[in-house]
Amino acid sequence: MFVWRRNRLMLAWLVCALATSLARAEPEVVTLELPGASVHLLIEDQPFAIGRDALQDWVQRSALIVGSYYGQFPVVEAHVAIRGRRGSGVYNGRAFGTVGAVVNITIGFDSTQAELDDDWILIHELIHFAFPSVPRQHHWIEEGLSVYVETIARANAGALTPSLAWDEFIGGMPQGLPKSGDRGLDYTPTWGRTYWGGALFCLLADVRIRQQTDGEYSLRDGLRAIVSSGYNITRSAELRTVLAVADAATGVTVLTELYDDMRAAPYPADIDGLWQALGVSRQAGRVIFNDQAPLVAIRDSITAREY
Ligand SMILES: [Zn+2]
Repeated sequence: MFVWRRNRLMLAWLVCALATSLARAEPEVVTLELPGASVHLLIEDQPFAIGRDALQDWVQRSALIVGSYYGQFPVVEAHVAIRGRRGSGVYNGRAFGTVGAVVNITIGFDSTQAELDDDWILIHELIHFAFPSVPRQHHWIEEGLSVYVETIARANAGALTPSLAWDEFIGGMPQGLPKSGDRGLDYTPTWGRTYWGGALFCLLADVRIRQQTDGEYSLRDGLRAIVSSGYNITRSAELRTVLAVADAATGVTVLTELYDDMRAAPYPADIDGLWQALGVSRQAGRVIFNDQAPLVAIRDSITAREY
């Protein structure tokens, strides 16, 4: 969710695009059916080289990856609008929750199948559907969840190898560490602390929940409980309320305690000890796994291919 209150602009665009499609009497909006959910897909009438069917398959596959992680697609009804521009690849996306669950995504006219297969941006945006809108100072949890879950959900789906998943984390997570003058996640709204600081919160929480429950529960169980309790992007909530819902589902209070540690203090100081405990390192540009590390079982279960 990069932008908060631009829903009017987005709506205006949707209406224009819909009006154009009606004028041409072409079925520009297709509805993709997922287990328990419908995604209404609007593809801008532009010359996408790859064709509409491939774009439709990309959205369906991305939605299924998100739905598989959460046990259900996070909203019953969603709208995805694909816009085109010159070039190749997926450029950017935005998720909105103020007038239903909506994702607006921009891709190049010359995008290839390989680029769509490797895409993480649409998955990132769809994951935003699975968390309520919280007060602005907690924006890090919204972005952090999308960054963290996007990687794990793709690994669980077999769309990302464990090596690549840990490579992303080893490269990205240090950007979420507090720098000099940091006042905690709620009070340090820099890019690094928002995206990667939030993702670091999620990784630490996932590891601790698994440790404290002997592997019986994970962050995913907590996040699934948030969705099954009716929270999603179209609702607003207090962060502590939502964290308590997730804690209750796992039987431990990891999320609330970690929030208390990270909300107003520069925590954690470093991440090297965590990589060592998980047995992951990067040497000569490659991820090396140490299978003698104490948390190797947790490491492997986090990024295991599940289907
Ligand atoms: Zn985002």
